[in-house]
Amino acid sequence: MSEQPDHNVLTDAFGREHTYLRISLTERCNLRCTYCMPAEGVDLKPRDHILSFEEIMRLAELLVSRGVTKIRLTGGEPLIRKELVQLVERLATLEGLQELTITTNGLLLSRKLTDLQRAGITGFNISLDTLREDRFLHITRRKGLDTVLDAIRMTVEAGYDPVKVNCVVIRGFNEDELVDFVAMTREMPIEMRFIEYMPFDGNTWHTDKFLPYREMVDIIQQCWPDFEAEGGDDLEIAKLWQVPGYRGKVGFISSMSDHFCSGCNRIRITADGKLKVCLFGANEVNLRDMMRTGIKDDRLLETVQSALALKAASHAGMDVLATSENRPMILIGG
Ligand code: SAM
Ligand code: SF4
Repeated sequence: MSEQPDHNVLTDAFGREHTYLRISLTERCNLRCTYCMPAEGVDLKPRDHILSFEEIMRLAELLVSRGVTKIRLTGGEPLIRKELVQLVERLATLEGLQELTITTNGLLLSRKLTDLQRAGITGFNISLDTLREDRFLHITRRKGLDTVLDAIRMTVEAGYDPVKVNCVVIRGFNEDELVDFVAMTREMPIEMRFIEYMPFDGNTWHTDKFLPYREMVDIIQQCWPDFEAEGGDDLEIAKLWQVPGYRGKVGFISSMSDHFCSGCNRIRITADGKLKVCLFGANEVNLRDMMRTGIKDDRLLETVQSALALKAASHAGMDVLATSENRPMILIGG
């Protein structure tokens, strides 16, 4: 990976430059989080339904040539994709790419960490919503808390700083654990990220379960009155806070109560090769079928540019989102 050359960056109608590509590598997952997918899982399609290794490389290469500097691999669970390490090795060679990261539930990470680090992964987000065994089983519908905690420790020991830990906060489920998670930042170089619960088709979202980030801050300040915001860039996705003197930080992802659409620089590609115009909308453009019918690179880029032109200034707001149709998160990628 090297410094970004001078590019003609992909820009939308509101002047937002799209330098961040999120690619979902699979619709499959080894967990069944209640907030992400229905209990029965999602219908799994034949293998050729999802993008091949070569198709992913083609899109990544093209988009990096047009100014993308950061790629995040997500899913479903990206670590269950067979050729993951080879894919990372290839992506890491793209000239202009500065960050190559993965979001994972951590279950398979201990086994693959060394290979992924060697292949060129620059950062990890590991998802963990509770520190209690019974709650882990309830929210993920599977076992594995200790495995995920081990994966977080190993990733820290491997030198990643910060390791980002993603926690979806659900009222009535885990708000009493916010302080336990913050306590972990005392010694560990982690960024503990509290994510507002978002509605998707088939998940168990309800207004009663929604806890806005300002209330999370109040809960934490009852324990640490000097818990403070870092300030900084308003367009950043995570609002960063810290307990003074602690090694790690706390981030709030307030996609619902205080959205960050004005800074949205993301191009999101689903495992089945659709460019998702917005995380919170049904609008998609099928890049997979275009590639399979032999479209040339310049036309493919024009299609991406036209899809980005469809982006709205911001999403429709929490009340509308709660009642509108949107694929389940697992089919979109986080
Ligand atoms: N399987 C991987 C994992 O869980 O980290 C990657 C895919 S997952 C869809 C990406 C992120 O989206 C996870 O951190 C997960 O907690 C978050 N997520 C899923 N459904 C969500 C929802 N309804 N609201 C907020 N965050 C959600
Ligand atoms: Fe799987 Fe991640 Fe969705 Fe949980 S949040 S079901 S781990 S894809």
